[in-house]
Amino acid sequence: MAEHEHVRVAVIGSGFGGLGAAVRLRREGITDFVVLERASSVGGTWRDNSYPGCACDVPSHLYSFSFAPNPDWPRTFSGQEHIRAYLEHVTDVFRLRPHIRFDSEVKKMTWNAEHLRWDIETTSGNLCADVVVSATGPLSDPKIPDITGLDSFPGKVFHSARWDHDYDLTGKRVAVVGTGASAIQIVPSIQPRVGRLTLFQRTPPWVMPRVDRAISSLERSLHRALPLTTQVRRGLLWGIRELQVQAFTKHPDELGFVEQLAKRNMARAIKDPALRAKLTPDYRIGCKRILLSSTYYPALAQDNVDVVASGLSEVRGSTVVAADGTEAEVDAIVFGTGFHVTDMPIAERVVGADGRTLAETWKNGMAALRGASAAGFPNWMTIIGPNTGLGNSSMILMIESQLNYMADYLRQLNVLGGKVALDARQSAVDAWNHKVQERMKRTVWNTGGCTSWYLDASGRNTTIWPGTTTEFRRATRRVDLAEYEVIRAPRPTATAARRQAAAEVDA
Ligand SMILES: Cc1cc2nc3c(=O)[nH]c(=O)nc-3n(C[C@H](O)[C@H](O)[C@H](O)COP(=O)(O)OP(=O)(O)OC[C@H]3O[C@@H](n4cnc5c(N)ncnc54)[C@H](O)[C@@H]3O)c2cc1C
Repeated sequence: MAEHEHVRVAVIGSGFGGLGAAVRLRREGITDFVVLERASSVGGTWRDNSYPGCACDVPSHLYSFSFAPNPDWPRTFSGQEHIRAYLEHVTDVFRLRPHIRFDSEVKKMTWNAEHLRWDIETTSGNLCADVVVSATGPLSDPKIPDITGLDSFPGKVFHSARWDHDYDLTGKRVAVVGTGASAIQIVPSIQPRVGRLTLFQRTPPWVMPRVDRAISSLERSLHRALPLTTQVRRGLLWGIRELQVQAFTKHPDELGFVEQLAKRNMARAIKDPALRAKLTPDYRIGCKRILLSSTYYPALAQDNVDVVASGLSEVRGSTVVAADGTEAEVDAIVFGTGFHVTDMPIAERVVGADGRTLAETWKNGMAALRGASAAGFPNWMTIIGPNTGLGNSSMILMIESQLNYMADYLRQLNVLGGKVALDARQSAVDAWNHKVQERMKRTVWNTGGCTSWYLDASGRNTTIWPGTTTEFRRATRRVDLAEYEVIRAPRPTATAARRQAAAEVDA
């Protein structure tokens, strides 16, 4: 690659992860960095998911940066537009815009062993960086299953994360495919206006009521006047979730009483025993993400809704056909079928020290030291990497822990001095991963009797962190250099040094 612009750090993505990294870099005194974002604005998840009813499942005072508290959250569980506005605000307050390059999709990044840097190709030009922080998000590339005949469906088709706001659903016959976190927010939001809604449910979710309310102006004034009250509120929300972790990770049997609460929640809205039977899960609560909604079941009980207890398997003209043979004629199909999580597309685009892509390295399952570093990919780290996801709390806590790790990583590089890179030792990655997978064996995600997007194609859980957020914070406080190989640039030969000196004089 010809000589290109060089930066100390290239961050990829401008969701919570990328923006958080940018703030942290500035706080560490590093200003020589760029944020490469394929879209035209910041926000990540909260920019792309604008479907009706999109909202967070974690209370806003916890689902926000600890260093940027917001006393003005309008609701306990804020909607997408408020979270997106918050991220725009963070971008402005921390003066991040000059660093961000929009419409810059990273197509490829290749480790350059000679110069100890990453050569990065983007849709807006090429550059190189000493360090790459990949914050492309675990849920940013929508997945639509391969359905026979879908290509020739004459109606409208879209994914929940790419909602077509120009298409009016009023009076239409709509198929919603999937019953995950997005689908259960979409269904009650569109049910009152569509003509008929057919829900394709492969597996029913466990659904608990969502205790959402407007945050009063008195509370907001209090938070503005006494910032400590926002911290106390956040601390309580965090502490409650931290106490739940043991049940998920060590004592799934204790979750039985939560199932009873969820069943009662269903029974209140669903009076038809046949429908209740269809909607009752046959696996331990928590095995899949516990969903929160007080409007989902009431919507399913309405006359214009059919629940098909089977996945969509075929489309014949405008007829959608379930695996159990149920048919329905529809005008539109909405896929709430999730994302490429364990096969994240960015992994195809990272080429490491031995010429292999990260996807090839991860072909038997994703693994990264402390959720950040993969062996053979020096000075490359990921935010929300393998086994950093949470089933019950705020991902922002995990992101901030990873940012601590990133900051220490950069400090260590400075201390080592000169042209230097850190490459995670394979033995350290394996040891970390072994520990994680051993702990995973007892968790509800592995023992609860379900298949979920937490598991990869081979059934291994490479997404969830099997511990408390405090444990993860401790594990990512410092970089342990013993876990890395320190690589130094080869000394230039006398001739090469003379050539470089001459080039510098010419420049
Ligand atoms: C509908 C929905 C609801 C959710 N609700 C919750 C919740 O209640 N609680 C919770 O903790 N988490 C929730 N999450 C998870 C959420 O993804 C994380 O909490 C968090 O927002 C992830 O932030 P991120 O910055 O890592 O990724 P993202 O927000 O996905 O941002 C990634 C960014 O990288 C960019 N990008 C990707 N590839 C490239 C490339 N090749 N080149 C350049 N840019 C690229 C994308 O455009 C995007 O802007 C939810 C996710 C979704 C989809």
